[in-house]
Amino acid sequence: MNFKMIVVMKKIKYLFLILVAMCTATSCSEDDLSPDSIFDTTAPQRNEFDNWILTNYTTPYNIDLKYRFEDIESDMDYNVIPADYNKSIALAQMVKYLWLEVYAKLAAPEFLPTYCPKIMHFVGSPEYNAASGSIVLGTAEGGMKITLFNVNGLDVENPNIDVLNEWYFKTMHHEFAHILHQTKNYSTDFNDITPGKYSGEGWVNLKDADVRKEGFVTAYGSSQPDEDFVETIANYIVKSDAEWQNIMSQAGTVGGALIQEKLDMVTEYLSDSWGIDIQALHEEVQERQSHILEMDWTTLK
Ligand SMILES: [Zn+2]
Repeated sequence: MNFKMIVVMKKIKYLFLILVAMCTATSCSEDDLSPDSIFDTTAPQRNEFDNWILTNYTTPYNIDLKYRFEDIESDMDYNVIPADYNKSIALAQMVKYLWLEVYAKLAAPEFLPTYCPKIMHFVGSPEYNAASGSIVLGTAEGGMKITLFNVNGLDVENPNIDVLNEWYFKTMHHEFAHILHQTKNYSTDFNDITPGKYSGEGWVNLKDADVRKEGFVTAYGSSQPDEDFVETIANYIVKSDAEWQNIMSQAGTVGGALIQEKLDMVTEYLSDSWGIDIQALHEEVQERQSHILEMDWTTLK
């Protein structure tokens, strides 16, 4: 059963419950019944943004962008709020410019429509994980859906690239890299670069600057090899050359050599498995990032 069917079925259930309640209250007789369907059988009303999504996401990339709140799409264990309409418009255009068009330009034409999650879901607030005290930046479920949180925290007029990367774009490269390695495995040689050093759940107590000396790009990357693999990819793509150099100098000689070994291995993986040049990805993203303050994100184009 797909998501839409679940949503429709849920609505049917609600309608059914309302009908039952009405009948109980007014003791329906048969003449109350109307021959008209209780379900909306007209074509959906699409607003300007919906049409833009069809033209810019669905038709070229086979992606449905959900910005309206549908709680079936979010994790019921958390309290989250809907994404603001205008912020959703801005973020949708940023995702297109800083993410979709980059892969569209540098990968084979069928790459995004085939492997990109079919659903992108915008949620207004962050998702807090009370148990671990961490904040969920994004989730990718079975390669089908990417959820971006904190859309209402977006600064549309003065977007800061570090904030954008932390909340959205690094997260998207991270989650997408999971989809790629779940589709085509990377060599287990990667796990042997820093064997026995993965910290599991303990990563939350570690600092980026410290784990770099051990050969990890980020603390989260030190949790387990899959996270290490995708953190190496995502950080290399979005960090400027100066920021990457800073990571390498924090890592020092030993850690730096290990991180370089990992970077070489993800480079080889993306090239051999997907025909993607990570250096070109990095350069394209850096070029686009340098223009974000000049652009109007509020008007649909
Ligand atoms: Zn991950």
